[in-house]
Amino acid sequence: ETLEAGLEKTRTGLFDKLSRAVAGKDTVDDDVLDDLEEVLVTSDVGVTTTVDVIRRIEARVAEDKYVSTAELQGLIRAEIANLLLQNAPERPADFDAPLPSTPHVVMVVGVNGVGKTTSIGKMAHRYKVAGKSVLLGAADTFRAAATEQLDVWAGRAGVPIIKQYQGADPAAVAFDTLAAAKSRDTDVVLIDTAGRLHNRVGLMDELAKVRRVMDRQVAGAPHEVLLVLDGSTGQNALRQAEAFTESVDVTGLVLTKLDGTAKGGIVIGISNEFQIPVKYIGVGEGIDDLQVFDRSAFVDALFG
Ligand code: GDP
Repeated sequence: ETLEAGLEKTRTGLFDKLSRAVAGKDTVDDDVLDDLEEVLVTSDVGVTTTVDVIRRIEARVAEDKYVSTAELQGLIRAEIANLLLQNAPERPADFDAPLPSTPHVVMVVGVNGVGKTTSIGKMAHRYKVAGKSVLLGAADTFRAAATEQLDVWAGRAGVPIIKQYQGADPAAVAFDTLAAAKSRDTDVVLIDTAGRLHNRVGLMDELAKVRRVMDRQVAGAPHEVLLVLDGSTGQNALRQAEAFTESVDVTGLVLTKLDGTAKGGIVIGISNEFQIPVKYIGVGEGIDDLQVFDRSAFVDALFG
C-alpha cells in the first residue's frame, strides 16, 4: 500500500471534521479554535499535543490579527510538521544505509497482537533485499505460537532463525542468537521478545535481563530497541508507550496498521509526547507493507 492510500481514512476524517468546524466562518476566532481542539483530540493526536498545536496557532493568530479559515489548514500542517521535525530531527536510516557496526542488533518489544512478528518479518525482508545478511532470534519463549509465527516469517523472508523450546530462558536464546551471528558474520540481528507474561513487572524484568545478556555477547548490543504499537488502537497505543518507555530504553517506534484506520493522528501525538522518533510504519499485512517513516511524506499524505 502507498502511504497516501494507507492514510486515506485519517485524512478524510480530519478534513471532514475541519471543514465542519470552520463552516460559515471567515476568520479564525475562539470558537474555531475550540472546535479545532476537538477535531485534533478526536483524531487521536492526543491531548498534550493538541494543546501544543492550539497554543502555537493562537500565537500566530494573535500576531497576525486576521487569519482566515482558508489559511487554517496550512497553519495546522506547518505546526504539525514542526512538531514532528522537532522530535525527530533526522530521517531514520534506510535499510540499505551502511551499519555503524556488525552485527547490528535490534531488539523488538511490544504487547501481543500489535504486529511485532509481522514487523520483524518485514524488516528482515527489507534488510535482505538491501543485500544484508539477517538472523532472527525467537526470544518470546512464553507462547509456543510466537516461535512458530516467527518461523513462518523467517521462511517468507528467506532468513535463518535461532529458536528453542517453549519455556526456555529468553535471555539464553538472545545470547545464543548473538553468538551465532558473530560466528556467521551476520549483518543484522532481530530479536523478538515476549509481549505478555504473568504480570507486567515480570515482563519488564525479563526484557531488562534479555538486554543485559546481549551486551555480554556483543558490546553495545542491543543497538536499537524498537517498540511496536498498533496505530489503530489510538489512545491505547499511547498508554503502552508510557508503560514500555518507563522500563525499557526505547530508541524508536514502529506504528503498525495505519492502513484502514482513521486514527493515524496518533503518530503525531506519540512522537511528540515521548520524544522518541517513529522509525517505521506498517501499512498492510504483506511483506512489503513497511515504510521508513518520512515525516514530510507523512504530512503530505495527511494534508494532500
Ligand atoms: P504480534 O502478536 O505482535 O507478533 O502480532 P502479529 O505480527 O502476529 O500481528 C497480529 C495481526 O496484525 C496479524 O493478523 C497481522 O497480519 C496484522 N498486522 C500486522 N501489521 C499490520 C499492518 O501494518 N497492517 C495491517 N492491516 N495488519 C497488520
